[in-house]
Amino acid sequence: MNTEGLAAQPPLPTAPRPRALGTDRLLLGAFIGAMLLAPALIAPFYVTLLNYIGLYAMVALGLVLLTGVGGLTSFGQAAFVGLGAYTTGALTTATHLPAWLAWAGSSPWITLVIGLLLTGAVAWVLGQITLKLSGHFLPLGTIAWGISLYFLFGTAESLGGHTGLSGIPPINLLGWTLDESQEIYYLILAFLLLAVFTTQNLLDSREGRAIRALKGGRIMAEAMGVNTARARMVIFVLAALQACASGWLYAHMQRFINPTPFGVHFGIEYLFMAVIGGAGHVWGALVGSAVITVLKQWLQDVLPQVLGSNGNFEVIVFGILMMLVLHRAREGLWPILRRWVPVQAPPKQIDPEAEPLPRRAPRQPGEVLLEARDVTRKFGGLVANNQMSLSVKAGEILALIGPNGAGKSTMFNQLSGVDTPTSGEIRFLGQPITGHASRDIARMGMSRTFQHVKLLSKMSVLENVAIGAHRRSHEGVFSAAWRLDRKEEARILKEAAHQLERVGLGAYLHEPAGSLALGQQRILEIARALCADPCLLLLDEPAAGLRYKEKDALAELLKKLRAEGMAILIVEHDMDFVMNLVDRVVVMEFGEKIAEGLPDEIQRNPAVLEAYLGGVE
Ligand code: ADP
Ligand code: MG
Repeated sequence: MNTEGLAAQPPLPTAPRPRALGTDRLLLGAFIGAMLLAPALIAPFYVTLLNYIGLYAMVALGLVLLTGVGGLTSFGQAAFVGLGAYTTGALTTATHLPAWLAWAGSSPWITLVIGLLLTGAVAWVLGQITLKLSGHFLPLGTIAWGISLYFLFGTAESLGGHTGLSGIPPINLLGWTLDESQEIYYLILAFLLLAVFTTQNLLDSREGRAIRALKGGRIMAEAMGVNTARARMVIFVLAALQACASGWLYAHMQRFINPTPFGVHFGIEYLFMAVIGGAGHVWGALVGSAVITVLKQWLQDVLPQVLGSNGNFEVIVFGILMMLVLHRAREGLWPILRRWVPVQAPPKQIDPEAEPLPRRAPRQPGEVLLEARDVTRKFGGLVANNQMSLSVKAGEILALIGPNGAGKSTMFNQLSGVDTPTSGEIRFLGQPITGHASRDIARMGMSRTFQHVKLLSKMSVLENVAIGAHRRSHEGVFSAAWRLDRKEEARILKEAAHQLERVGLGAYLHEPAGSLALGQQRILEIARALCADPCLLLLDEPAAGLRYKEKDALAELLKKLRAEGMAILIVEHDMDFVMNLVDRVVVMEFGEKIAEGLPDEIQRNPAVLEAYLGGVE
């Protein structure tokens, strides 16, 4: 079967990719080398400055994950830094711990583990409460708990109140006491690099794609089987843990803590760092914290001299700087820096040897897979669907047609779990699915495309399609962070590449999805839906925006899928396309079914002609 030409437009004129002759690795190596040598080459004052930059960068890195990638704005990260610092501070300086608890304060390494566990638990509880909030309520929620924790540190007498805790011991590492700033420098560097690499690894994985879909792609991700609420919680807890580790290091570097650096003011500053550096990019966190820290230091020295008086003038300058960055470089400084240094990670390799992903057992041809009975959906006074019934069998293509506003997309959304009927019942594979989450329906084997294309435009075509395989794979956050998921990742990417070849987009694997023509983006959505290995495919206007030859190729592909036993429900406006392709047609008008039958019958049905063509024929 020929599906060539489905996306037969000539490949986009791709700019010759900068050949990544390992330059990215080389640069990274040079950076790490310089960082390792730095304490030997620069004055202790600057080493201390680097220590601060490293500590801030760890927190900002959490914000990259949370805010830049995940789209969740938090002003409360400083409180988690405080949690890490106070846990270790309180336990390691406590003089009268009960005997059964004495072990807890005996080593900073134990208090690190306790701090991480505590922070994880607190973040989980706070996340349960705040992550459900949407829009500006979420940032407000983070401010609320940021303030609460700050006041807890300040008022709890056992934590030293506003005077704070002193006498915190230095960290001991394999018999080496890290009590000089040049010594703890290496520990901070190790923690930071570890955080950078695990975050980078995580983002480049199955879970990472789910996380990257949180910003602007939640409905799509859920329809592909992703639990987005869980993904939000994952990044929230991870960001809190990174902040906690930073606080732990801070406490043992300063050997003294008070509540000041853990207030909301600092929470805002961390957000500044992430945004100015480039909140969408892992290395942006480092750039942002370096720029802000150095600038702050410099402004604190220079401004009083220039202005002739003392005061926190740097805050004003920061405000202006922030506005400038938001105006001129919304993506932050990192993407600008990257333009100067033409390094690019090599495109992903597809491993032809990778084992195919497991497939679903095929359905019996003619078996009813989907059945909707008397589905009604009201939006206030508007009845978008009224007593709609339809069924789709394995190995058939059913078309749902009707004029604009007839209620077809509403029906689609209810069938796929994006929307819930006001009344009526929907059964899929014999089970009631009315009101079920779309990700659960997706897992059962229903996969869909959207009338208004929903893809992640900066992500590559290949990775967009790979999201479809989310439920056919299992590797979690931990194995992704430590690169233990590479075998499965290769299987996912091979499957995604295979589906893209199949729909005719094989030449575009590594392009950003947003650079495709609209028609091709629709085809991409079909490949993504196929990547889930569905038994029922819902296509909302797939031929819109396609050229003549592309439509032909799409029809060929759908016929082939039908022959393989796939059930297909298609909403389409193009009557030529529909009538030559489908087995049965359901016609809607004003939310109701006005006709159902074979394409030939429908084309002759007077009610349909009246409704559809307004009586003109
Ligand atoms: P179609 O896909 O057939 O063009 P839709 O299902 O998109 O039609 O819309 C059917 C009707 O329901 C329209 O009048 C539309 O304005 C209305 N509608 C759809 N979604 C919503 C919603 N979320 N809230 C309110 N009205 C809606
Ligand atoms: Mg529609």
